[in-house]
Amino acid sequence: MRLECIECGSRFKIHERFYTCPKCEGLLEVEFEPSELKRKLDRKRLKTDQPSVWKYRAFMPILDESKIVSLGEGGTPLYRCDRLAKEVGVRELYVKFEGANPTGSFKDRGMTVGITKALEFGAKTVACASTGNTSASLAAYAAKAGLRCVVLLPRGKVALGKLAQTLVYGAQAVAVRGNFDEALDMVRKLCEARKDIYLLNSLNPFRLQGQKSIGFEIADQLGWEVPDRVVVPMGNCANIWAIYKGFFEFDAVGLTRGIPKMTGIQAEGAKPIVDAIKRGADKFEPVERPETIATAIRIGNPVNGPKAIRAIRASKGTAESVSDQEIIKAQKLMARLEGIGVEPASASTIAGLKKLVRKSAIKRDESIVCVATGHMLKDPEEAIKVSERPRKSGRIKI
Ligand SMILES: *Cc1c(COP(=O)(O)O)cnc(C)c1O
Ligand SMILES: [Zn+2]
Repeated sequence: MRLECIECGSRFKIHERFYTCPKCEGLLEVEFEPSELKRKLDRKRLKTDQPSVWKYRAFMPILDESKIVSLGEGGTPLYRCDRLAKEVGVRELYVKFEGANPTGSFKDRGMTVGITKALEFGAKTVACASTGNTSASLAAYAAKAGLRCVVLLPRGKVALGKLAQTLVYGAQAVAVRGNFDEALDMVRKLCEARKDIYLLNSLNPFRLQGQKSIGFEIADQLGWEVPDRVVVPMGNCANIWAIYKGFFEFDAVGLTRGIPKMTGIQAEGAKPIVDAIKRGADKFEPVERPETIATAIRIGNPVNGPKAIRAIRASKGTAESVSDQEIIKAQKLMARLEGIGVEPASASTIAGLKKLVRKSAIKRDESIVCVATGHMLKDPEEAIKVSERPRKSGRIKI
């Protein structure tokens, strides 16, 4: 295992505590030697154990397994959705329901690895900036590990469920005047000045490794086959890369064959990566004032943008943007046709898929997995606002 810069290719030892490349500030990634991985794999147990993040521990950059901090993350359901498939117009559709994680979003898959690394590095305090789910997850895992936790949140912009979790798990929350991108700048500066604080934003190369397990589980749950396409909402763009990397590594060690077309969805008011993909550009232009009802992807300057562009290009995928109205409609469809309650960012995947099928950019005979990143109860205010009011008693119509 080693750290490698995705821009200049410089390699570093796995126990270095860098967040970005010390030579060119490029993004870092953990790379494995496939031959070494193959040797470490217990193929028999891979076929029999239940899916979970730590089932795939050979792929996790952990040096001291006695330090693992877990709340039982991963192992989320992969629902086959025939009613929704018919509505969207595709043959085979699945939803990977990440709302079933311990704090209700996929962020827990990254945090179990990230907090374990924080313990390996001997940190006493961890920090992040967050639109809500990262802070909820970090706060829970820091509590379990006995670490202090500082989170920077954009003031007045965090969904209620996420804020409630962050506070009850005991994080020190700071409301920042500004949006997520500005909060992230602040926490990066804080962690540069105070080396005793370990930064667990999606810039952190170790955290992302845990999120590869979404890709591992999809393949595992489909009987060690990969779907034609995986659709993921893009905010800071860590997840689409991590899922791609998961399929890439399974392919590299021969557990599965091929990589699904990675398809990223953003909201119309925050779509820097969609614009770059549509222009065929390698670089993206940050969006100054991102706006959308889907607060988890309300991000104008995604730190992992370069990784998302690579994942989409390398897998021959695509990207699309959707309006808030389309997101709300998709949120209700998922709930009313399949009984799956998701927050708006997650519903953007179904909205985007629908749009791409309508435009004939996706063939109807594909097998497709949409990643529903977070639980509906994360944002109860939004859910109530877009729903019909309860009727007065005595007016029940059946
Ligand atoms: C974090 C998050 C996203 C965006 O993931 P990125 O890795 O930042 O692209 C999408 N949906 C939910 C529910 C999230 O919590
Ligand atoms: Zn570099």
